[in-house]
Amino acid sequence: MRVLLLEDNPSDAYLTRRSVIQALPDCLIDLATNVKSAKQNLEQTVYDIALLDIRLPDGYGFEVLEKIVAEDLKIPVIMLTGTGDEETAISVLRAGASDYVIKGPGYTSKLPEIIQFALQSYREKLHERSELIHVLYIEHNQVDIDLTTRHLKQYAPFIQLTIVYSAYDALNILRHEKNKEKFSVILLDYRLTDSDAFDFVKTVRQEYCIELPIIMITGHGSEEIAVQAMKIGVNDYLSKSGNYLLRLPTGIINAHQTYILKRKQLELIESERKYRLLAENAADVIFVLDMEFNYQYISPAVKRLRGYEPEEVLRQKMSDVLTPSSIEKAYEVFRAMMASINQAVDKSKIVRILELEMIRKDGSTVWTEVKTSLILDDNGNASGILGVTRDISVRKQTMDELRKLTRAIEQSPVSVVITDLNGSIEYANPKFSEITGYSLEESKGCNPRILKTGYTRDEEYKKLWEQITSGGEWRGEFQNKRKDGSTYWENAIISPIRNSLGEITHFVAVKEDVTEKKQIMNELIIQKEHAEESDRLKTAFIQNISHEIRTPLNAIVGFSSILANSDVPNEKRKEFIKIIENSNDQLLSIISGIINIATLESGIDKIIEKETDLNNVMRNVYAQLKSSKKTPDLVFDPPVLPAKKILLITDPVKLMQVLVNLVGNALKFTSKGYVKFGYSIQDNIVKFFVEDTGIGIPNDMQDLIFQRFRQLDNSSTRKYGGTGLGLALSKGYVSLLGGKISLVSEPGKGSYFSFTIPYKPVLSHGSGHEDIIGQVPRLKTILVAEDELNSYYYIHQLLTMHENRVVRASNGLDAINRCKESLPDLVLMDIKMPVMDGLEATRIIRESHPGLPVIALTAFALEADKKLIMETGFDGFIEKPVKPDKLFEVMMKVLNNIT
Ligand code: ADP
Repeated sequence: MRVLLLEDNPSDAYLTRRSVIQALPDCLIDLATNVKSAKQNLEQTVYDIALLDIRLPDGYGFEVLEKIVAEDLKIPVIMLTGTGDEETAISVLRAGASDYVIKGPGYTSKLPEIIQFALQSYREKLHERSELIHVLYIEHNQVDIDLTTRHLKQYAPFIQLTIVYSAYDALNILRHEKNKEKFSVILLDYRLTDSDAFDFVKTVRQEYCIELPIIMITGHGSEEIAVQAMKIGVNDYLSKSGNYLLRLPTGIINAHQTYILKRKQLELIESERKYRLLAENAADVIFVLDMEFNYQYISPAVKRLRGYEPEEVLRQKMSDVLTPSSIEKAYEVFRAMMASINQAVDKSKIVRILELEMIRKDGSTVWTEVKTSLILDDNGNASGILGVTRDISVRKQTMDELRKLTRAIEQSPVSVVITDLNGSIEYANPKFSEITGYSLEESKGCNPRILKTGYTRDEEYKKLWEQITSGGEWRGEFQNKRKDGSTYWENAIISPIRNSLGEITHFVAVKEDVTEKKQIMNELIIQKEHAEESDRLKTAFIQNISHEIRTPLNAIVGFSSILANSDVPNEKRKEFIKIIENSNDQLLSIISGIINIATLESGIDKIIEKETDLNNVMRNVYAQLKSSKKTPDLVFDPPVLPAKKILLITDPVKLMQVLVNLVGNALKFTSKGYVKFGYSIQDNIVKFFVEDTGIGIPNDMQDLIFQRFRQLDNSSTRKYGGTGLGLALSKGYVSLLGGKISLVSEPGKGSYFSFTIPYKPVLSHGSGHEDIIGQVPRLKTILVAEDELNSYYYIHQLLTMHENRVVRASNGLDAINRCKESLPDLVLMDIKMPVMDGLEATRIIRESHPGLPVIALTAFALEADKKLIMETGFDGFIEKPVKPDKLFEVMMKVLNNIT
């Protein structure tokens, strides 16, 4: 028996020792004089009982009691308390002590009894809560059997005996595997009838490999045998001295407990071995660091992770292991772990997982996930770090890849929707929200049928589902509606997503908004139709043009050749000349129309604004178009134009052209009734109108006729003639002038064309000269510079008709010389001439004859060219071919010094 005595007072220790030996004669007593050494004793030795003083130099006996209870050491504890301290006495019992002794006078004398009692009752208590201790008892002496049985029954009923009389019987029992487990202790009398006790022990140990504790009972004074027996594997012995039975229960318990302890230790070693084996073979790297981050252990897997042998790693510093930023991170996490240690209920559960970049032997790095926890010592203080490192480079790469893909999907210009097998939306990318107006939250769980418009037929949806549920891909077009109800078109590819087992788990739809594309396509189709239409129109136009040109040309050629024949009577001759003149006009108007439309459409046409008298314009239009024909009647509206000038700033030429076109058309398309035209001024707008009672224009043609070459009747058997350019030109000119043209018409009843121009009135009315229209120059000397004889001859005819003197110059240089000789009143200067052109000649004449008016004769039809000519310093210009009226009008203006 072994007793732990905690007592710092030497005399008390002495007296207590004596009492204990009285109660337990063969016991060994370990004296501890402070708490610390008592605890140490408990760790090293198995005690049967402890006697603990309460007050000690380094603490209280309570602490030792606590340890015994906490660690379930199964020792009865007797506390030695101070006098009169009943409260303490109660609290020691509560804390788990078996009994207490108050250190009163002579207290040691009571001790033996108390110790006996404590042991006894403790065993019983132990027995109550623990299993029985089965003992195989080998004894042939019936008296001993009876005595032992009786004693144990009384004092240690939890010890159960299975009694056999011979070694033979015992071995028979032990041979069965299940019986090995059944017994806790073998109790063996040294003297056996059928065998040598030593042989028996050897058989048990070596043959049967039974580790069970064996206690041998020897005769009195046979210690030598006992020593021999213990050498071959007996665990304890009892010699049959007077009160050996008293010591029997403790011996059995001790042997049993020692055995169990040893087994536990073995198990511990085994499990540690297993763990080590695990660590050594794990794919993950297992490591232990001390608190200064020095490696204490690292498993061999580090070789694969970092390329280093474990021995090399053990010598490495953190800076050899981690990249600088990862060291930072590791230290930070470590500090946080240490900071949380005091709050933690279970410190062993302080675990951190972090991602660190490690340096490999070849200099490359590898991303790892490190799971760390603290290693705690017995006092619960952190003594190191245990960690597991795992290579996550593949995972990280996968994650990066995944992140990239996710980003691609999120930024994709097409919408991506993932649904489960029922079609409920699990994911939709931002583009989807942008197109549909449904946020991801709103659309989650919804079926994409929220977008349905009913355009796609149910059969098509059925086909779609059949296709994708059978693993195929569906491509097609949907018309869908947004959250706000508006519709859009999309091109979709829907396909199944399979898991690793090949089962379909989801569907993914990739859809492109093709609304705009569709629109563009439609526009393209329209444009193509337009182009084709325009092509058709051009063909029709060319046919028209050739017809239009041929008609007057035929007349000119035909009648000219008749006129060449001298025996045409005078009356007829005049008629033919009239026809030729009319044809000429017709031809010119066709050609100028074509040139005008080309100029207008190329965008180089500019308006040239000047002071213009509206009434004069109206009169000119009238004068140009009034024919001898009675019907239709061409009238002003109101019928009489006011004599007063209405002056405004506009381009009179363009304005005239528009009016002549509209009135001309009205006359052309009206066979009975009237054509009225006029204007009104409202605020800052002048509104012109031309009304007729002609054939009218159907509704569907009213816009089209403003397009070039468009006519009501495009067939070649056209009744009315014309090129189809007039209205296109008019519309272009009106818009250049700053106004708008419009039309109201009813077939069979007539048409009403109107257009506006801005009214920019001239406030001061400067020029007071009379109207020069219809006047002709007379009795003047006129120098005509013209290289072409026919042209010169024509002008010469016109001028000499009115008794003017005409001098000819055949080029620019000639003109300069003739100027000096003939002192002309006026020069008509052709621009394009050999030797020196008209521009150069005019500049020189200007210098020598300042004040001498020079009028340009030009074939340039462009307004811009006119402007250039005017800038050169001409006083006026006349377009070729020269019309007599125009020629005289310009000459009169220049001669009267009107600009
Ligand atoms: P053109 O008269 O040379 O054919 P326009 O562009 O001036 O070309 O006119 C285009 C077409 O519009 C005409 O061919 C004619 O069919 C129709 N149109 C123009 N003015 C009238 C009108 N006053 N009454 C009936 N139809 C008209």
